[in-house]
Amino acid sequence: MEHKGKVVLVGAGPGDPELLTLKGKRILEQADVVVYDRLLSPEVLALMPETAEKIDVGKNVGNHPVPQDQINRILLEKALEGKQVVRLKGGDPFVFGRGGEELELLEEHGVPFEEVPGITSAIAAAAYAGIPVTHRDYCSSLHIITGHARAGGELSIDFSALVRLNGTLVFLMSVANAGKIADGLRQAGMDGTMPCAVVERGTYPAQRKILATLDTLASAVEENGVQSPAVILVGKVCGLSEKFDWFSAKPLKGKRVLVTQPQKKQSKFLGMLRKLGADAVGYPCIETEPIRPFEADPGPYSVLVFTSAAGVDSYFSWLEETGRDARCLFGKKIFCVGSQTAAEWKKHGITADFVPSVFDGEHLARELLAAGVAGKEDRFLLLRADIASPELPEILRENGMDVTETAVYRTKAVCGENPPDLSQFDVVTFTSKSCVEGLARSLGRQDFAGTKALCIGAKTAACAERYGFTVVTSEKATLQSMAEELIRLERI
Ligand code: SAH
Repeated sequence: MEHKGKVVLVGAGPGDPELLTLKGKRILEQADVVVYDRLLSPEVLALMPETAEKIDVGKNVGNHPVPQDQINRILLEKALEGKQVVRLKGGDPFVFGRGGEELELLEEHGVPFEEVPGITSAIAAAAYAGIPVTHRDYCSSLHIITGHARAGGELSIDFSALVRLNGTLVFLMSVANAGKIADGLRQAGMDGTMPCAVVERGTYPAQRKILATLDTLASAVEENGVQSPAVILVGKVCGLSEKFDWFSAKPLKGKRVLVTQPQKKQSKFLGMLRKLGADAVGYPCIETEPIRPFEADPGPYSVLVFTSAAGVDSYFSWLEETGRDARCLFGKKIFCVGSQTAAEWKKHGITADFVPSVFDGEHLARELLAAGVAGKEDRFLLLRADIASPELPEILRENGMDVTETAVYRTKAVCGENPPDLSQFDVVTFTSKSCVEGLARSLGRQDFAGTKALCIGAKTAACAERYGFTVVTSEKATLQSMAEELIRLERI
């Protein structure tokens, strides 16, 4: 079959990565080449296949690193090589996105193309600011206008026509010209008390909304130092914003939170925090790797004890690598330090036999003894990290238990490419001691006085305190409890 190249213009949406369409996601994940712009969220860019050729043609204001005609040629050349090319653009490609221009050359050369619409910032930024762009009581039309001036600095906007239409006006690329837009509308007869809104970085956790009137619009933009990307909205519907602003009402809105968990585990906590409105940024400080070769045949043991999901993961893959499966665990008791570890077993269809009420090694040992779920007739196998705290085996042995320890994984500190500036964050989160140590190593610092840290348990907290952090500890050793603690901190 002839393999013919094709170009798909894909709208990435306005910023919130979940506003990418299902079709856009599928096509992006199948791309051979992705040609993308600046200002796309890292989560969307992370969907590009590892094998894809990635071409950044991002534009900086007033400085076009890759001119438009060259972008057009890149798309053509890659498609003619037989590649599936995705042209990924912010918002909707056909709304002030030059999508039409990019198709012309392809059409001339008979290269097939498609367009996957995206959610435009013109509507989404308003929606996330609690502004319905139309409402039957206030307007009967919606207008999307560029506020970008042509060479010479003049805006080519027919203000009189806009004022006559009496609809909601959305100006893109307009921050620099807010004053000219307000003047133009007033001179064309619009009332100076008309409600206006400026939405900066719309749909991102860092979104800012500024409400004004036509009279105060220019000074509001100036005084608040509004930066691109932002939309300016003009119309009576802007008056609904305070009542309908669901996004600013989120409990962690505007909070900058650093998540230091390993890359593979971050997405759950990041997602949880973002849902609550936080500007959560991932900076993995450690990674775990299975220890191999590894020999701990479950045969002679009656109790297997796990103190982390990484341990379960490593052990289970070792079973698979050695040609075994869950059946070789028949009749064995599985004890887990906490709900995350137990959840990891659940993925393999196995329910943990015991989880303590407080998720640490000491409680696991004391509670399992108190509950009488194992005894001297049992043989314990502890499957943990190469560096693991001593309490669990010590307490078990003190009580006459037969305990064998084995390391199933190790933790390594990793240094990310762009180390974070901690002064930009309200709080750093740590889910283990090794995350604290990893961050210190990665930033080359020992003293973190003045930085707030939210820790998952006493051990982690003690470690963070040694590094000078101002420490808060979540009530329970779960991510959910950590998120709740952040909300509580916010309220006091
Ligand atoms: N195709 C895009 C618009 C590209 S023009 C779309 O459909 O959204 C670039 C302009 O879009 C910016 O100057 C700004 O006015 C607006 N814009 C893009 N993303 C934005 C965001 N997250 N918040 C507010 N405005 C945004």
